[in-house]
Amino acid sequence: MSKDLHGLGVSAGSAAGPAVRLGTPPKLPETVPAIADPGAEADRAVAALDAVGEFLRRRGAAAAGQAADVLAAEAMMACDPALAAKVRGLAAGGRPAAWAASEALASYREMLTSAGGYLAERAADLDDIADRAVALLLGEPMPGIPDPGHPFVLVAAELAPADTATLDPAAVVAIATERGGPTSHTAILAKTLGIPAVVCCPGILTVPDGTVVAVDGSAGTVIVEPTAEQVERAARRHAERAARLAAAHGPGRTRDGHPVKLLANVGGPADVPAAVAAEAEGIGLLRTEFLFLDRHDEPSGEEQRATYAEILAGMGGRKVVVRTLDAGADKPLAFASQQAEPNPALGIRGLRLDGLLPALLDTQLDALALAAKDTGADVQVMAPMVSVPAEAAAFAGRAREHGLPVAGVMIEVPAAALCAGQVIDQVDFVSIGTNDLSQYTFAADRQAGPLAPLLDPWQPALLRLIAMTADAGRAAGKPVGVCGEAASDPLLAVVLAGLGVTSLSMAPPSLAGVRAALAERTLAECQAAAAAALTAATPAAARAAAEG
Ligand code: PEP
Ligand code: MG
Repeated sequence: MSKDLHGLGVSAGSAAGPAVRLGTPPKLPETVPAIADPGAEADRAVAALDAVGEFLRRRGAAAAGQAADVLAAEAMMACDPALAAKVRGLAAGGRPAAWAASEALASYREMLTSAGGYLAERAADLDDIADRAVALLLGEPMPGIPDPGHPFVLVAAELAPADTATLDPAAVVAIATERGGPTSHTAILAKTLGIPAVVCCPGILTVPDGTVVAVDGSAGTVIVEPTAEQVERAARRHAERAARLAAAHGPGRTRDGHPVKLLANVGGPADVPAAVAAEAEGIGLLRTEFLFLDRHDEPSGEEQRATYAEILAGMGGRKVVVRTLDAGADKPLAFASQQAEPNPALGIRGLRLDGLLPALLDTQLDALALAAKDTGADVQVMAPMVSVPAEAAAFAGRAREHGLPVAGVMIEVPAAALCAGQVIDQVDFVSIGTNDLSQYTFAADRQAGPLAPLLDPWQPALLRLIAMTADAGRAAGKPVGVCGEAASDPLLAVVLAGLGVTSLSMAPPSLAGVRAALAERTLAECQAAAAAALTAATPAAARAAAEG
């Protein structure tokens, strides 16, 4: 009999297939067996580490960009001769192969963790190597993405970056996870690959492997053992959606021609080709953190200028909104000493960092102005984490001093939305960051899986803050964009357009779905959907009301 599970739909589309669980990390048995031949145990352990190294090397060769680099580095760690020596020492002391491998890697982990910073982040790679080697030595399946030899629905507690580096969208028809929220790694990855996904779905891990499930990433439902009719409906919806997306081209417009600019969120030069291929009308959020994090020195003005110019040139004259550095808190800068903060998300982050290190912003604005001159591009700058009108005024003034005439701010702190009229008076545009606006409105850490329902972008309280901001923009005759994850949900995009939002910025793979959803409705229909969603009491009711 079919059964419905409910979660959060984070990547639109629907698909059905047999559920297959992500391989879980092996557990060493509690009783340590006695060993007869320490030399043989050492050889087995080192051979397992070599096999893991070879596996990671092959995966790295098949992956692209940053994922390839991460996997290649991990493969080198697995085959490190010093690690093999440590393993041999432990085996000589009586530890069986699996224990020797696990304990040698644990001692390395300890060293990296106590070194802190970038090295501490590599600790997860060592865990991955240990899990894979121990699984091999215990004769268990390797943890990670399964390969059953047919298309399947990937089921997991949550997906980590290492799980997903080589995930093949032709094999994985949908994703369903027990944890994760709208801005989780699972959600972002699924959207990037165009795979329907439901996260924060209690009960999904109790579904036995091989059971057919139908995932609806728009409605946020998973039907366990669907009827033939339900499977057929999922397939039909999927085909219809694919046809609608393929037919949608050009600038964002409602059916009656009301323009809503469709822009791309870009995290570095490597994302630019996808933005252009997806017909983005420009970049609505260039996250410049990629230039600053994970390094020991501040990038020079010249380095910044060259990288910005590469991105601007790649966009071929389309508008590019560059967000100035959004570091601090959970994204510390190695080269900017900051004291530990008791509540980092409420601390010195984003534009607030300018109070401590004003030269950072000056160098960045200078580099941007020069890159704009080099390329003749339409560059607009935008500050993160602005709370009060005075901060917006100060930022716009700084941008102009550096020769950047168009300046805006993000609305991601509730105070800025509540006083949106006064904030927007100080700048040329605003862009709503719904990821942080949710976090601060609901006092719910955006990374905390159990709080994901509070972070649902359909929450009526969030919609009201967006409506207030859009109203302020309309009154001032200035653009109001949305660049948080909310913009990438096709039905929510319709609501946002109806609230008066003038541009939507999202990961490039989401553009086609949003473009198609807007093209199917008139502005009046978008406004009716918005009015209905605004007065709903719950996220589910808001979505149902918008569907009409
Ligand atoms: C946001 O907060 O919604 C946003 C777009 O910025 P980030 O996700 O980079 O914090
Ligand atoms: Mg933000």
